[in-house]
Amino acid sequence: MNQQGTAPREPQSFERVLSSMCTEPHPVAREAAERFLATNPGDPTTYPAVADLERAAVETLGEITGLADPHGYVASGGTEANIQAVRAARNLADVDDPNVVAPESVHFSFQKAADVLDVELRLAPTVDRRADPAAMANLADEDTVLVVGVAGTTAYGRVDPVPALADLADDRDALLHVDAAWGGFVLPFTDFAWNFDHAAVDTMTVDPHKMGQAAVPAGGFLARDGRVLDALAVDTPYLESTSQATLTGTRSGAGVASAQAAMDELWRDGYREAYERAQENAEWVAAALADRGYDVVDPVLPLVAADVPAETVAALQDRGWRVSPTGAGELRVVCMPHVTREMLASFIADLDAT
Ligand SMILES: *Cc1c(COP(=O)(O)O)cnc(C)c1O
Repeated sequence: MNQQGTAPREPQSFERVLSSMCTEPHPVAREAAERFLATNPGDPTTYPAVADLERAAVETLGEITGLADPHGYVASGGTEANIQAVRAARNLADVDDPNVVAPESVHFSFQKAADVLDVELRLAPTVDRRADPAAMANLADEDTVLVVGVAGTTAYGRVDPVPALADLADDRDALLHVDAAWGGFVLPFTDFAWNFDHAAVDTMTVDPHKMGQAAVPAGGFLARDGRVLDALAVDTPYLESTSQATLTGTRSGAGVASAQAAMDELWRDGYREAYERAQENAEWVAAALADRGYDVVDPVLPLVAADVPAETVAALQDRGWRVSPTGAGELRVVCMPHVTREMLASFIADLDAT
């Protein structure tokens, strides 16, 4: 109950949320999530209906990422998918002291992966906020099991030079993982080389619960080669099905069903429209911030960062704006599907008023 004594329909309004990478689920995704709440894709033999939806979801994720015969599953999110990429690479390699080489712009989930899996994470400096293949080559050696590139970085929306990273991985006999957790549903409408078809990418993270407009939790883990999933599988006594490659056991059928419903509804035209609107909004707010004298990181994808001072950000937060800074302290505006031009105009008006 709120102060007016009426029960709000939603526990969370998106009206002033500007820095989240999640968004309001599409209505079809919400409905599918509710219908499949009581299913467990972790046991596909007992819950075949949701298992069918998961196979369809993986097929569509393959289409979105340029992979004809995808292996993978709907994970709990980008974190699980990234951990699984590191785990598969470690399990498939025959080295004593495995390491992973990534740009310093990589998501913090790789710190968790390194910690849980006891592999060394080597972070290379970036150039213009993108991975620098030469700097990464300096860190890679015969114990490197995985090279990581990001297609849509969390802080700045940058896309790493994936083909050059594929060459590096090939040279070191390592696998190549692309983290497109956030970018995967907008990049198909750009000219970037980022997917399985553009380069020798082995595994990918692509999250329906971010730009894909699915309900949380719906991440995506994809592999070109079925042996990657085999390297993750364990035997499963007590279940009707006999082996399991996921990190979690019981999983949310709601996440799987909502991912499939959202992709069925929106791929490709709906996602293209959402991308075009988001990109226009990002360019609009970037120009508005630049007009006011701030240093703006230009939005190559629908994400804007600007050097707005911390006191101003705090004043905007006091006015109810949900904004968070980058690691370097810049204001970050993520133009998710719920972010409208009216919202951004009202945000800029509040910025002018502070
Ligand atoms: C959000 C994000 C993740 C983590 O995904 P979760 O769903 O929050 O676990 C990983 N990588 C990138 C690039 C992200 O933007």
